[in-house]
Amino acid sequence: MKYYSTKNKNFKVSFRDAVLKGIAPDGGLFMPEEIPEFEENFFKNISDLSLKEIAFLVSKKIFGSDIETIELKNIIDSSITFDAPLVNISDNINILELFHGPTLAFKDFGARFMANTVACLNRDEEKEINILVATSGDTGSAVANGFFKVDGINVVLLYPSKKVSKIQEQQLTTLGENITALEVQGTFDDCQSLVKKAFADNELNSKITLSSANSINIARLLPQSFYYFNAYARVKDKNLPTVISVPSGNFGNLTAGLIAKRMGLPVQKFIAATNSNDVFTKYIDTSVFETKPSVKTLSNAMDVGNPSNFERILDLYNHNHQKIKDDIFSKSFSDEETVGAIKKVHSKYKYVIDPHGAVGFLALENFISETKNKNGNGIVVETAHHSKFADIVENALNIKPDVPERLAKCLSKEKRSIEISKEYNDLKEFLLSTN
Ligand SMILES: *Cc1c(COP(=O)(O)O)cnc(C)c1O
Repeated sequence: MKYYSTKNKNFKVSFRDAVLKGIAPDGGLFMPEEIPEFEENFFKNISDLSLKEIAFLVSKKIFGSDIETIELKNIIDSSITFDAPLVNISDNINILELFHGPTLAFKDFGARFMANTVACLNRDEEKEINILVATSGDTGSAVANGFFKVDGINVVLLYPSKKVSKIQEQQLTTLGENITALEVQGTFDDCQSLVKKAFADNELNSKITLSSANSINIARLLPQSFYYFNAYARVKDKNLPTVISVPSGNFGNLTAGLIAKRMGLPVQKFIAATNSNDVFTKYIDTSVFETKPSVKTLSNAMDVGNPSNFERILDLYNHNHQKIKDDIFSKSFSDEETVGAIKKVHSKYKYVIDPHGAVGFLALENFISETKNKNGNGIVVETAHHSKFADIVENALNIKPDVPERLAKCLSKEKRSIEISKEYNDLKEFLLSTN
């Protein structure tokens, strides 16, 4: 299958180029030329399948013409090594736990699938690949973990200095080997703009092979649809409408859900839950999309003022605001409300939710009360384990969260990062000096 640029539908590349280039030369994002649809029957028996089996069938549907079945099976086997359970907390609210991977956040799914896919595509090449990633916290560690010690691949992470949590910083800066962390004196948007400049720099690209790995990469985006199918497979009553609330920042997770819906997944509505970085929510309300500098919140992985995947959502719906609104409800919440939700979910449902999931919970609750439809399968996507935001959770609940072993290990390691300014030349010099 071919992939086109969101900026020019006539510009098409192969799957291999879409994955290795990450972004189109015109700055557009790649989209699959066709979104294959499952027959209704597939969903009748989906509850009999495991997450891994579902992941394999969905990936075969999307990538089947580009990756051989046996290779695809290997990629799934080495990527989907943990579960995505749906935990029922009340009649109409479920939590889709996406934090059972090595870095305790949902980005492990896409990052591991992409890493194994790139390794597969690059197996016979001589030149090393440099994966360049701007991260607001969790992307970087998931990608770094996926590529850790993979031959022929270097990973360069750019993160905003002092704008990620202590735990996130440890996860970004302690791997070593083929992973380098650049501590940028700026915001996440600055990091993202540096990466965009590097990809657009012809001189740099003639000297070294660059590839992207944030949520704009198609091999990271599409596998994020697997767990939506899995969530549907686990709901109690498939005759009731399913509504899924996605805590959103750069909108890769939500876009993958919309693609799953386009593949036939019976979801009535997606909810784009946002914090004070609410440009998408404003777009849904007013049809005007106005980017803003990001502001810092408690759900910091969602602190994005100019979400990249907005272009893909526009593309999926042919820029039709009404059609987008038909499929997506959106609502934004303050930090104060977020803390209130962490408390409520704990006292009312005995569940410890992280600040991102808390925003998702609020948006689902709001949707249920606005539509007065209490009968349904409400799903809140819990994007990270609460122990990654221990101080916030501790402040709200007065309890010390248990730290899973895989996290405790990384906290005891020494931080190694290289400081750079937000000037593009600093990044360029660094890249040229290491290759
Ligand atoms: C990345 C991230 C988000 C936002 O996901 P997008 O795909 O960028 O919208 C939400 N929560 C957590 C914990 C994250 O790491």
